Amino acid sequence: MVQERIGRLLSLAYERIGSEKEPDALSRRYVKLAREMSSHYKVRLGRSEKHSFCKKCNSMLIPGKTCTVTLASSIGKVIYKCKCGAETGIFYK
Ligand SMILES: [Zn+2]
Repeated sequence: MVQERIGRLLSLAYERIGSEKEPDALSRRYVKLAREMSSHYKVRLGRSEKHSFCKKCNSMLIPGKTCTVTLASSIGKVIYKCKCGAETGIFYK
């Protein structure tokens, strides 16, 4: 199933970040593939999947490793700032 394959690609991308010295290129390739599959097959990514990578550079967003996390409590958002400079705001409950 496409959705499973996308999930697997994203978890592979996640593992790369943790295990390799220079994980960026391969990790980003996995994310790119997952995104291409999702748009090609018109499969929507889950909420957590959608927010697990940077939309600008396809890098996995891992607090303390590839991004910094700021809490913007006034607007009820968590701001993830990627190494490339892109910011993603995620509403929290
Ligand atoms: Zn980025």
